[in-house]
Amino acid sequence: MLQMSRRQFLKITATSLAGSSLALMGFAPDTALAEVRQYKLARTTETRNTCPYCSVGCGILMYGLGDGAKNATASIIHIEGDPDHPVNRGTLCPKGASLIDFIHSPARLKYPEYRAAGSTEWKRISWDEALDRVAKLMKEDRDANFVEKTDEGKTVNRWLTTGMLAASAASNEVGYLTHKVARSMGLLAFDNQARV
Ligand code: SF4
Repeated sequence: MLQMSRRQFLKITATSLAGSSLALMGFAPDTALAEVRQYKLARTTETRNTCPYCSVGCGILMYGLGDGAKNATASIIHIEGDPDHPVNRGTLCPKGASLIDFIHSPARLKYPEYRAAGSTEWKRISWDEALDRVAKLMKEDRDANFVEKTDEGKTVNRWLTTGMLAASAASNEVGYLTHKVARSMGLLAFDNQARV
């Protein structure tokens, strides 16, 4: 004969009652546990891009939620290597594989900022203001320091007081055009982050 204490008896009774009540309500644990988890990228938008970290320039696929509707907040929820990209063929190093944290970092800089000379505060400015200021300063410096001829009269057309570092995560075509723009202004100090 089965021997059990009063406490054990109450425990078994409570468990059986709970189980049968759930079954009566239509809850079938076997079915629920066997259900296939929904594919997490099913309702996302896929966007191709390039990893911004280093000169390798690996291709990435970014998956975002939000379809542009007013009540939907767009957000990137997953990033992986692009299997069709000739550089990395779907692989990513640990830095590239953690890009999602970089994107959602509260410390990420998303707009131009300006700190006036002598000030300790950074002030947010628009892209138009930033680009106008860069263009204005470049022109001032070039007008003051452009060298057309050497002391011996040799034509050189060079501008040595400003340098430029181009981004490595650009296509060959963008790299070619960037080079043309920089050289057409006489810039000699010109390099690419791909060599850094
Ligand atoms: S995934 Fe790694 S190797 Fe590729 S570009 Fe990014 S940082 Fe460089």
